[in-house]
Amino acid sequence: MTKPSQRTHGRRRLAVSLPSGRRTLHFEPKAPAKAQCARCGRELHGVPTSKPKAYARSSRAPGRPYGGVLCPNCLSAEIRSLVRASGSAT
Ligand SMILES: [Zn+2]
Repeated sequence: MTKPSQRTHGRRRLAVSLPSGRRTLHFEPKAPAKAQCARCGRELHGVPTSKPKAYARSSRAPGRPYGGVLCPNCLSAEIRSLVRASGSAT
């Protein structure tokens, strides 16, 4: 029996058939959301959907600056704007 505190809508409900033929509800944690770009909100590829603690060594976020935070388009636009801003100041 699930703890009453775990029977919430914050958990995914799974209808499970038991070997005896009865059907019960199992309450499982919801899957983490996919990583999104912090600037445009696009889905990021190459970033695992598990929580960072559970990352396997081979499936970590890209190692470049802002890897796992910004998409490639936004990163190049951000770098360009930074370079242009620093170029005008000097
Ligand atoms: Zn983006």
